Amino acid sequence: MVREADGLIDLRSDTVTKPTPEMRRAMANAEVGDDVLGDDPTVRRLEEAAAQRVGKEAGLFVPSGIMANLVSLLTLTGRNEEVIAGDESHLYTSEVGGLGILGGVFLQVLPNLPDGTIPIERLRSAIRSAVYTPKTRVISLENTHNRCSGAVLPLEYIHQVAALAREKGVYLHLDGARIFNAAVALGVEAAAIAEPFDVVNFCFSKGLSAPVGSIVCGSQAFIQEARRTRRMLGGGMRQAGVLAAAALVALETMVDRLAEDHANARLLAEELANLSGIRIDPTRVQTNIVIFELDPATGWDSSRFQQALREQGVLLSLSGARLRAVTHYGITRVDIERALSAIQAVLQTRPPA
Ligand SMILES: *Cc1c(COP(=O)(O)O)cnc(C)c1O
Repeated sequence: MVREADGLIDLRSDTVTKPTPEMRRAMANAEVGDDVLGDDPTVRRLEEAAAQRVGKEAGLFVPSGIMANLVSLLTLTGRNEEVIAGDESHLYTSEVGGLGILGGVFLQVLPNLPDGTIPIERLRSAIRSAVYTPKTRVISLENTHNRCSGAVLPLEYIHQVAALAREKGVYLHLDGARIFNAAVALGVEAAAIAEPFDVVNFCFSKGLSAPVGSIVCGSQAFIQEARRTRRMLGGGMRQAGVLAAAALVALETMVDRLAEDHANARLLAEELANLSGIRIDPTRVQTNIVIFELDPATGWDSSRFQQALREQGVLLSLSGARLRAVTHYGITRVDIERALSAIQAVLQTRPPA
């Protein structure tokens, strides 16, 4: 990949990835039509390929991961019903309460453990249907878990939650924005992770490096309804094949290489753990997200540290009060070594008064 002229090492997010040359070619040559009328052959191809990849009957292309969550959950619920999710979930922390505003749907949040799970017994006791409460309709899990350092949910845990959901008659939804990071980390097909879920969505625009787009996958009947929800949200796109073409290349060529991002993240986490002034448990880093804290004795707070690093050409993001570095396509081992040197250099100084 061509390094940007400014030479910045951008670890803010895997969403900063730009389309590969093969994606650009596929976009330029894409066969397109009006997808709202069902006429775009490239979108059709993408929806089929993506659904097959996660072992579901059908897929629906949507503009973003947030819309994928909205389409999924608004289709599964009605007013005065609720979705159970973790208190560190993207759904709860980063989506502006859209479910409540747009659907009259409540979120019941339960504490996430640092590994991204919610204990089964907490889930069991939270499911409710009394006449004086909202009715629980869906349990939503996130895998990999963004704010839990990209944690991979154990397959056994997913199956336990699925058994509970079936027993209680509630749907199981996966915010699988980074499902392929989980699959690569576990060494399984994404379909093995998706299998117990009724509905799964994932992003093409993160580690897979496509410019735009996410997908919602489930049964034929569900996707037919989800199409109405997408329409209601204004998410129907016309000659969307230009975007779907890049997403197809993402699916075909960008999944296996995620292992490189994981290796780079592990290197970063392990080396950070060796620096005094940094607090991190490197064993938590299983995929491409590295979250760490600064020892208050350094005198630095996260946002000033972030600013000082920026001046050294290294961009990080904030995850709450913590710092976050995400590895991705275009970030090399050498970039990680350079970022570590910059972090070390900043740690050896005191913040400006
Ligand atoms: C990024 C992300 C989303 C939302 O995706 P956008 O395309 O930014 O709307 C949803 N869930 C998780 C876990 C994410 O990391």
